[in-house]
Amino acid sequence: DYVLECLQSGWISSAGKYIQAFESSWADYCGRQHGVATSSGTTALQTAVGCLNLDAGDEVIMPTFTIISCALAVLYNDCVPVLVDADPETWCMDISQVAARITARTRAIMAVHIYGHPVDMDPLLALAKEHNLTVIEDAAEAHGAQYLHGHAGQKSKWVRCGSIGTLSVFSFFANKLVTTGEGGMLLCDDPTIAASARSLRDLCFQSEQRFYHKELGYNFRLTNLQAALGLAQTERITETVARKRWMGKAYTERLSNIPGLQLPVERPWASQVYWMYGVLLEPKHELSAREFAVRLRERGVETRPFFLGMHAQPALQKRGLFQEETYPVSDHLARQGLYLPSGVGLTEAQLEEVCSAVHDTLL
Ligand SMILES: *Cc1c(COP(=O)(O)O)cnc(C)c1O
Repeated sequence: DYVLECLQSGWISSAGKYIQAFESSWADYCGRQHGVATSSGTTALQTAVGCLNLDAGDEVIMPTFTIISCALAVLYNDCVPVLVDADPETWCMDISQVAARITARTRAIMAVHIYGHPVDMDPLLALAKEHNLTVIEDAAEAHGAQYLHGHAGQKSKWVRCGSIGTLSVFSFFANKLVTTGEGGMLLCDDPTIAASARSLRDLCFQSEQRFYHKELGYNFRLTNLQAALGLAQTERITETVARKRWMGKAYTERLSNIPGLQLPVERPWASQVYWMYGVLLEPKHELSAREFAVRLRERGVETRPFFLGMHAQPALQKRGLFQEETYPVSDHLARQGLYLPSGVGLTEAQLEEVCSAVHDTLL
């Protein structure tokens, strides 16, 4: 209905009421003051790093086990990505490795909530405070996930992923929990950052003198049509998250009796959303993860491989990055991991079928 309204009213481009409505409803849901909608999660990340006023050569710490968008956002701002390995169970960045990667040039930490499970943010926030670093949360895989802030102490509180860092970023790509086809959003509480993000998104036009530019900007605008889709899906996010949590638990119940198959975890301080239900085949299996995927495919079950670490990307290596660095956990995940069908439309019957295919192949 909202999309039709855009078409009928003629507001189909990057002005129109749904953009602001989507920005404020998504920001509200996440417990944030400001939302700035962008053309994708990747451009939201690029805008986020752009808002920090970093100098060329400044460093941003991030997980190696993530999508290339994180590294691109840093590189396109003339900064340097610095990596840490993954936690073998949550698959998020290994927090214990961050302190050792901080140098005089470090300015920010980009925390990525992998496959729907939150990063343990408290220790990161403490490090960031101590070293005066900005924390960017990439919550592109964690719409609706929650984190128990303060869980190690006396006073704790559940908060949404995307409300914790100074800035956070979401993607609304087709496979995310809220989708606008393509799209993204940057969230923050600081009005200065929000204004800077709005300006960068829109070619740094100026309201006083439109075609006079003091900074280099981008066209990273979302359209009213896309925002209409996003707003409608924000209205049913609670149902979507409940469905994903049902899916995650249903898979775990049915697959936990298979020896040598590592399943997603949920830490006591986390409420994860199983964006993708990942499984890891322990190396002792005769099958490789790749052969496992082929066998499942023969039974009509499509899977996807895990991320390949940033340190293993030729596009980044050939810029001289990450030479001689090793990230064994990320390599293990890339080699042994794949994810099972995880769409929000997956029915119980389909889930049963996937589980029988997994059982038949591995048992
Ligand atoms: C999907 C994703 C992105 C990129 O979002 P796009 O909208 O596809 O550009 C960024 N970070 C993470 C962690 C993602 O999963």
